Amino acid sequence: MSAQSPTPEPMVTGPHDPEHDPKASYALEPEYVEALTARIVSTTGATSPTYSPIHGQPLANIPQSSVDDVAEAFRRARRAQAAWARTSLDDRAQMLLRLHDLVLDRQDEIVDLICWETGKARKHAFEEPVHIALTARYYGRTAHRHLDSERRLGILPLLTRAEVNRVPKGVVGIIAPWNYPFSLALCDGLPALLAGNAVVTKPDAQTMLTALLGAQLLEEAGFPKDLWQVVAGPGRELGTPLIKSSDYVCFTGSTATGKVIAQQCAERLIGCSLELGGKNPLLVLRDASVERAAEGAIRASFASAGQLCMSTERIFVADQIYDRFVERLVARTEALSLGASLDWDVDMGTLISPDQVETVTAHVADALAKGARVLTGGKARPDLGPYYYEPTILEGVTPDMTCFAEETFGPVISLYRFHDEADAIDRANAGRYGLNASIFSQDGDRARWIARQIKAGSVNINEAYGATFGSVDTPMGGMRESGMGRRQGGEGIHRFTETQAVATQRLLRFSPQFGLSEETYAKVQTANFRLLKKLGRA
Ligand code: NAD
Repeated sequence: MSAQSPTPEPMVTGPHDPEHDPKASYALEPEYVEALTARIVSTTGATSPTYSPIHGQPLANIPQSSVDDVAEAFRRARRAQAAWARTSLDDRAQMLLRLHDLVLDRQDEIVDLICWETGKARKHAFEEPVHIALTARYYGRTAHRHLDSERRLGILPLLTRAEVNRVPKGVVGIIAPWNYPFSLALCDGLPALLAGNAVVTKPDAQTMLTALLGAQLLEEAGFPKDLWQVVAGPGRELGTPLIKSSDYVCFTGSTATGKVIAQQCAERLIGCSLELGGKNPLLVLRDASVERAAEGAIRASFASAGQLCMSTERIFVADQIYDRFVERLVARTEALSLGASLDWDVDMGTLISPDQVETVTAHVADALAKGARVLTGGKARPDLGPYYYEPTILEGVTPDMTCFAEETFGPVISLYRFHDEADAIDRANAGRYGLNASIFSQDGDRARWIARQIKAGSVNINEAYGATFGSVDTPMGGMRESGMGRRQGGEGIHRFTETQAVATQRLLRFSPQFGLSEETYAKVQTANFRLLKKLGRA
């Protein structure tokens, strides 16, 4: 069954559509919503409504979980994990490969739901099933590379056989945000499952349906139902009980919440990975193609209306091409279509909530009050829907302004001119974050040399964020206050395992034999170690 198109048709095509009626009502089919929400572990009888940011109309009533429900979710997950850890790695990997196909087959339904819940443009929502399909295929195909036991050097050649096993942590708690609700609900959980763990997840309250569709697809791909538990409710209430029962916590969200999570994990001495905020720089070097850089900067800054952790909020442009770049960037920004549509024709959707509008409005107002200039945008657009905000370009932003160093998490960028690249690197590296950066240049070697000097967990050259985000064999995460740990690649799966060393000793034991005294035994051992070094042994 698929997400139902609303009645009457909710399509609002953009700022120039005179017929646009922001009050048009719509609903998802109740049976569809019920089938999804039935997956939430909830015995309270309480529900909480969600609203689509497209028009601010009610979307669904979400059953709420209590602290006891969280405990029950962990009981079920632990039972399921015990059996799951005995399932062969090949069988687990096959399920991921089936998920890859399912997600690509069902992408329309997934993308519809993401658009309903977040209000983002369809082309931005499309990135999410793609990211999950790539992640599922990657881990499905590389399962043995990451998880097979590895032989290591034993203390005595031939006599000591040493190996390292990857043992599942147990039950992984995942707390996810609303901005990439399909991708971020699943992308960390897939390697956790492959490594033999169960998952209890608390998605953001605003985007529960998309996360629940992910849970349903996992079951359809063959994963045992109880292996993936979903609880619903405010993070402030369910976060602590979830962390108290988890063997490892995987959090994506704001830096402020990440610090709270890290403290709670530290109290229990459990590991956590934290994927947090950013204030991401984009550098346009003097030899960059102006057109390509302007096109890339639009994607880097306004994808998902800037509500993307990897989104650019600061652009540093070489003096020599500054004016031409700004002219192209402003022209391209003004040509973007803005509006509410489930169709492919919209370039930028809405912010998700009144809170987001408030933050973006406050950052822009503060900058203008302190002397910044708006080159384009700078206004909320209630004529399009309750939370629309124009893509906005600012010039003249200075350190006393909030948007200079604080994450806006909206479609607002600041432009800065630079004279020499060392200065641009220093300014890009200023601040407390270090998540993502982009560099535009026609000299790949030079751009890669500069990348090594940028304090960011990922650097995209001649691209916005998709090159690193989509290259799932590379690790992704933040330096400094942008996070701890990495998702994707080997790092992204090994965090969900404990490493266990096993050494088997043959023939000789670690004590004197053949009538040797302790002193002679020590001399023989010393001679052995000297010989091993001479022979080049590590
Ligand atoms: P948030 O920290 O407010 O919420 C994220 C999640 O944490 C939600 O599920 C929320 O319910 C839960 N939560 C809130 N308080 C909690 C608490 N005390 N204990 C446990 N859980 C709690 O973040 P947000 O505003 O929803 O998301 C936007 C932020 O996330 C931005 O800063 C953005 O940069 C960041 N983000 C980072 C990445 C990344 O990969 N680095 C990806 C997406 C978003």
